Amino acid sequence: MDKMDKLPLLEQISADGLCAGCGLCASVSAGSARMALDGAGYLRPTLLQPLTRAQERLVEQVCPGIGLAHAPSDVAYDALWGPLRAVRVGHAEDAQLRHAGSSGGVLSALLAYLLETGQVDYVLHIGASDSEPLHNEIKLSRNRADVLAAAGSRYAPSAPLSGIDALLAQPGRFAFVGKPCDVAALRQYARHQPLVAEKVAYMLSFMCAGVPSMEGTYAILDRVGVARRDVRRFAYRGNGWPGMTRVETHDGKVSEIDYATSWGTILNRHLQARCKICPDGTGEFADVVCADAWYGKDGYPDFSEQQGRSLILSRNDHGEALLHACVAAGYLAMQALPVAEIAKMQPYQRNRKEMVWSRLMALRVMGRATPRYRQLRLLRTASMGGVVANARNFLGMVKRLTLTSKKTGNN
Ligand SMILES: Cc1cc2nc3c(=O)[nH]c(=O)nc-3n(C[C@H](O)[C@H](O)[C@H](O)COP(=O)(O)OP(=O)(O)OC[C@H]3O[C@@H](n4cnc5c(N)ncnc54)[C@H](O)[C@@H]3O)c2cc1C
Repeated sequence: MDKMDKLPLLEQISADGLCAGCGLCASVSAGSARMALDGAGYLRPTLLQPLTRAQERLVEQVCPGIGLAHAPSDVAYDALWGPLRAVRVGHAEDAQLRHAGSSGGVLSALLAYLLETGQVDYVLHIGASDSEPLHNEIKLSRNRADVLAAAGSRYAPSAPLSGIDALLAQPGRFAFVGKPCDVAALRQYARHQPLVAEKVAYMLSFMCAGVPSMEGTYAILDRVGVARRDVRRFAYRGNGWPGMTRVETHDGKVSEIDYATSWGTILNRHLQARCKICPDGTGEFADVVCADAWYGKDGYPDFSEQQGRSLILSRNDHGEALLHACVAAGYLAMQALPVAEIAKMQPYQRNRKEMVWSRLMALRVMGRATPRYRQLRLLRTASMGGVVANARNFLGMVKRLTLTSKKTGNN
């Protein structure tokens, strides 16, 4: 990072608009920081006391907001899609998990398999808070019913690593599910903390277009005319594919809006700044990553309701072996997919990886803090995106930086 000298490290990362909100810094700072929603509705570390120099050095090495670097690997690296061991589409064989899941319920199927075969003692992932249904909280799932309850995407801030050190210190092996930045953080932390390899059996992720602030959720409530205090349950999607955004109130009223409206016209207007310069929307650091395997219609992903189907990428031998074992045990159905098909299902991810380099150059030119990304082939993907699109993105970023205040932490 270029500019780290004005505020305490964690506050500087947030002020620079680089915090991804994963929560790892809160955990490794051993009580000196905790995650809390900021005024803009994102989860950010709040300093309770200064970090030691050793804690700061560790944060500088592991924070995914300020840097991402792959370890050397034998797996073939696709410039757009990262390390690819195999590419498939598939779905959970358990019809309930498939229906409840965001796309094909594959992540939930993998988790159910790992729990029911005793390969992990529990799963660390995210679900709706039991006490505040609009907010996310960490879930430690120990059986299929727990996994089912946490299935489905939650398009709001989550900090699944905020208590990771306490869990690493306890007995029990677990599977971890998080956003790509959460998994990248944990993978980078594993280079410094041997307990990660000992306790974390699998790291699973999903493709991520960015984390909307809580303001996105509140805007959905405004759209359906429901007050925050009246909400009993809030599901962003799932229960079908893509499934409806569904709000239930304490007095039994149900309001729904479709995915194309809730994600495409509301939530995606509230994405955190760091997500716009994310080179890893596709979960390159995970063992297995899942995404929506949209069918195409008129050259675009088709969001009409269908039976759930996931895109499934294994990123190493460990993940690949898990997928085969799940199929053999009857938890998962899958079939091969040519790599070239991914871009048709995930045009946003392709576009962002092609444009990240020019956006980073804009940050540099404007004298802003710029994350260090290594071994992500960003110059190569920029060349794939073409000069005109890159120039537009460069200028667009310069304009945005000029217009927005750095003080918001969302520049
Ligand atoms: C913020 C966000 C952005 C996304 N962007 C894309 C995208 O660009 N393209 C795409 O194809 N898919 C995207 N998805 C993922 C997609 O919606 C599905 O989650 C993915 O296809 C996996 O589906 P599944 O049926 O296998 O998962 P499920 O079986 O439904 O399991 C989902 C798992 O994800 C975990 N989870 C849900 N929300 C969060 C969260 N906020 N933070 C951490 N963990 C969470 C749950 O705990 C659960 O274990 C996004 C999801 C989120 C939360």
